[in-house]
Order: sequence, then structure tokens, then C-alpha cells
Amino acid sequence: MLQKMNTSQILVDSFGRVHTNLRISVTDRCNIRCFYCMPHEDAPFKPRRELLTFEEIERFVRVAAALGVRKLRITGGEPLVRHELPKLVAKLAAVPGIDDLAMTTNGMLLAQQAAALKQAGLQRLNISLDTMREETFERIARRRGLDQVLAGIAEAQVQGFRRIRLNAVAIRGITEDEIVPLAEFARQHNMELRFIEFMPLDGEQRWQEDLVLPGEEIRARLEAEFGPLTPAERPDPSQPAVDYRFPDGSLIGFINPVSQPFCSDCNRLRITAEGQVRNCLFSTAEWDARAILRGGGSDDDLAAVIRACVAAKKPGHGIDEPGFLRPQRAMFQIGGQTTM
Ligand code: SAM
Ligand code: SF4
Repeated sequence: MLQKMNTSQILVDSFGRVHTNLRISVTDRCNIRCFYCMPHEDAPFKPRRELLTFEEIERFVRVAAALGVRKLRITGGEPLVRHELPKLVAKLAAVPGIDDLAMTTNGMLLAQQAAALKQAGLQRLNISLDTMREETFERIARRRGLDQVLAGIAEAQVQGFRRIRLNAVAIRGITEDEIVPLAEFARQHNMELRFIEFMPLDGEQRWQEDLVLPGEEIRARLEAEFGPLTPAERPDPSQPAVDYRFPDGSLIGFINPVSQPFCSDCNRLRITAEGQVRNCLFSTAEWDARAILRGGGSDDDLAAVIRACVAAKKPGHGIDEPGFLRPQRAMFQIGGQTTM
């Protein structure tokens, strides 16, 4: 039982990193097919019975919260394709100890769901927006849908979430022409935009280093257009983004996992949609929480799995090291999102 657990032990790994952040993937399915994440056809989705139920996710989160997890981010696949997601949001919002509940979404279904999510207790949203042009959207997502995403962003703003950020994956050969239009859109609508470097987690394994558009290059382009950017305050040292301010004070961020790895401050744990606990996007090992959840295991057993996963965390992802091995899973199968 949770009451009997040794809750004094927080989740510290062997490099002193205290884990307070959990990313929860609620599905591996998605309504679009971004080439940097999913294969175009025949994505190997898990049978639905293998996905954790809302009750199983809630139980896992209660144990994680008793071990010091404070911030949750719901992700996927596309979380909004999971049936009745606001019910899960309400359950997680009520877990003692959780003080921050956020979600990352592609925004396609947000116009219909934003009100219910806000009412259920969702506090913050990251919405993916890589382009302001429909034809580029289609090139990336292999589906049409930019208008739906923009409608989702508009409705999320109406609902008054505590903070809405926009995420753009930066890809050489595609993003160069999007930098200024995306920044203008974000500034006009009072949202922070963050550019994320393309990581080797795509389902078709086409990633190559020359497709990475480094954050520094984007920053230079923005400065040429808008004037000098000054480093912003860093309230949370574990935040993966380096934020800057435009001359008018508005924020812009860069998440540079490839060119400037931030592993030394990483405090994030992940659980996949089918209940495998991971200590890194690039981890090649997983710890099976579902077997405990479905096999009659105790909360102490779950806590032991979480602790073991944290204890085994490596110092860094190693993308830039000679022997780097891509994980078997692509982004949609892990539960992506580098950001806070
Ligand atoms: N479907 C939702 C979405 O797209 O926002 C949530 C899941 S998605 C896997 C989470 C985030 O990871 C998105 O911002 C997406 O753009 C980003 N992402 C996916 N594949 C990536 C890759 N290979 N490199 C960098 N970011 C990636
Ligand atoms: Fe779907 Fe998000 Fe992956 Fe794009 S990045 S395919 S929206 S899960």
C-alpha cells in the first residue's frame, strides 16, 4: 500500500539528478504522419488492450508522486485521439503532490476538446506548429490540416490556459523559410515559440546530421530580422530550452539536443503508452510497469521499478559519440517531447 511506502527516498540518479518530471504517453496512434516521427505507412501500432487504462496510469502516477514527481506532461502519439482523455486529465489533476499538468499536442483536435481539457484541470499546453504554409504542412505531416491546427490554437487561447507554447521541429531544407513567419505569428498572438532540433528518432530512420538545422543558425536569422536577442532568465535549471528575449521583451526559445546536449540537468522520466518506464528518449532499456500493474504487484513493487530505472540512467544520450545506437523505438512509440 502507498501509505506504507518509504517516501523519504526521492528519485536521485547516480549523477545527482533529482527526477521530478514524468512524461506520460497515452497512445502511440496519431491522426497525421510527420516524417520526423512516424513511418508514412503501416505504422506498427500496439493492440489497444496493451495500452494502460486510465486507472493504471493514475495508479502509476500516485506512486511516482509519492517518490517526488511533481510535474506531468501528457503526450503520445497524439494524445487527443485517445478516447475520453479529459477523464484522465481529471484523475491526474487530483493526484496529491502533482502541481503542474501539461500536454503536448499537434492541435488538430484541440478546437473541439480545449474547453473540456481546461475544465478537467489541464494547466498548460505545447502545440506543435512547424510551418505557416499548408503545402509545407502536408510535406511534413503527409496529411492536410494546418487550418485545423490554427483553429485549435485560437480556441486554446480563448480557454485561457496558464501558458501556451508553440513547438517547431527545425529541419534543414524546410524550416529556413518558416523561421520569420512562425516568429511573427507567435509574437502577434503572445505565445512563446521554441525551435527543436531534429533528433534521430524518426520512424523511417532517415535522420542524418546534415538535416539538423542548429538553433544557433535560427537565432542568427531571427536577429537579422528582429534585432538583438538577449538571454532570458532561467527559473528552472532543468529546462531543456534556452530562452531569449526580443527587443520588445517577448520570448523565443531553442531546444538544441543535438548541437548543445542538456543531459547533465535532465530530470525527466517517461512511461510509454503500454507501460514501459524509460529514463531517456534515447534509452535502449525499459522497465516493465505494466507487468506489475496487471500481475497483482504492490505499490512498493512499482516504486522499485521506478527507482531501478532512475538508478540506471546514463550521463547523456550520446548522439554525438562514435558508438551511438539509435533506440529501437521511434518518437511516436516513446512519448515524445523534450520540452518542459
Ligand atoms: N503528437 C503530439 C505533437 O506532435 O505535438 C505529441 C507527441 S510528439 C512525438 C511530441 C513532440 O516531439 C512534438 O513537438 C514533435 O514535433 C516532436 N518531435 C517528434 N519527432 C521528433 C524528432 N525526431 N526530433 C525532434 N522533435 C520531434
Ligand atoms: Fe503525430 Fe506528433 Fe508524431 Fe507528428 S510528431 S506524427 S503529430 S505523434
